[in-house]
Amino acid sequence: MNYRISVLPGDGIGPEIIVEAKKVLEKVGEKFGHNFDFSEGLIGGCAIDKEGTPLPESTIELVGESDAVLLGAVGGPKWDTTDADKVRPEQGLLGLRKAMKTFANVRPVKAYKELKNASTLKNEVIEGVDLVIVRELTGGIYFGEQKRGSEEASDTCEYKSSEISRVVKFAAKIAGKRQKKVTSVDKANVLETSRLWRQKAEEILKSTNVEFSHMLVDNCAMQLIRDPKQFDVIVTENMFGDILSDEAAMLTGSIGMLSSGSFGEGKTALFEPIHGSAPDIAGQKVANPLGTISSCVLMLRHSFDLENEAQAIENAINKVLEKGYRTLDIMENDKKQAKTDEMGDLVAQEI
Ligand code: NAD
Repeated sequence: MNYRISVLPGDGIGPEIIVEAKKVLEKVGEKFGHNFDFSEGLIGGCAIDKEGTPLPESTIELVGESDAVLLGAVGGPKWDTTDADKVRPEQGLLGLRKAMKTFANVRPVKAYKELKNASTLKNEVIEGVDLVIVRELTGGIYFGEQKRGSEEASDTCEYKSSEISRVVKFAAKIAGKRQKKVTSVDKANVLETSRLWRQKAEEILKSTNVEFSHMLVDNCAMQLIRDPKQFDVIVTENMFGDILSDEAAMLTGSIGMLSSGSFGEGKTALFEPIHGSAPDIAGQKVANPLGTISSCVLMLRHSFDLENEAQAIENAINKVLEKGYRTLDIMENDKKQAKTDEMGDLVAQEI
């Protein structure tokens, strides 16, 4: 079977990790008899440099013709600016998610047995952690009106009940296939958008067969560190989800391990690691490509319905970790350090 994949490497470590993910997908194609047809597009800072915009029309067209999108990361100090009138790389990513009509960003957080010492938390806290964060992607403070004066600035947080309902339904569906437990996270003691969130979430979740509860975001931030095993599926709004998922990454030892998939109304979904462009390590061949490779697992499983192929990558990652190979971010004394490309080679070899 032929699958068309748009590949948007972006900036910083983006191109380095994307190469490794393609390598692994090609190996899967070889082994299972599929053809993954990759076409590259520009997004982020590199697109600003070449086309003057972080999301060129050609990229939107390319994405529209594909079966799935694989993205690296965008941004970096070269394009950082406090000038409200300048274009920024992140606008490319937000614009892409909007153009693709994705509304639910799914971020699985599973602690690898082999990496239990890579986390800064105690083994007994992280052992067996297996949760999913579902982050709303189209609303909230990232998309509301922004104003900037010389001495004041404002960002507006807005939510429509339809935006809340569809993402909560989506989260309940995921929970239905897992431990059937949803925690809806908000700040309903302070924010009006959160009170609407809580009311709608309650209406939706009551009509499902999943167990549910509400939690304030500040408590959730604490509970994720105190007792992460209490969670199955967390559903929350855009900014809370952004922050909580980075925090949850530390349960796995490194942000470089975590994958994500953004799903929506369109048939095409977007897959990307949760980390950014890591300019501090770009070009040094030390970036961990496993989050991006794991994003391909989500792509195979959810966009192409290729469960055996998805499992082949998961097993390969586990075997490589069992054999003691680690990138710098998850390195321990008695392990063997692998550079970014070596890690990709090792996973591909195990398939
Ligand atoms: P970051 O996620 O890029 O990096 C945070 C820390 O984690 C850094 O120390 C980095 O070296 C490390 N890290 C990240 N990915 C890693 C990997 N795969 N392997 C090993 N270590 C890894 O976040 P930041 O430093 O706050 O942001 C850097 C740039 O990325 C900024 O321009 C920001 O706007 C952008 N950003 C982009 C995205 C995205 O494209 N989805 C997400 C977050 C931040």
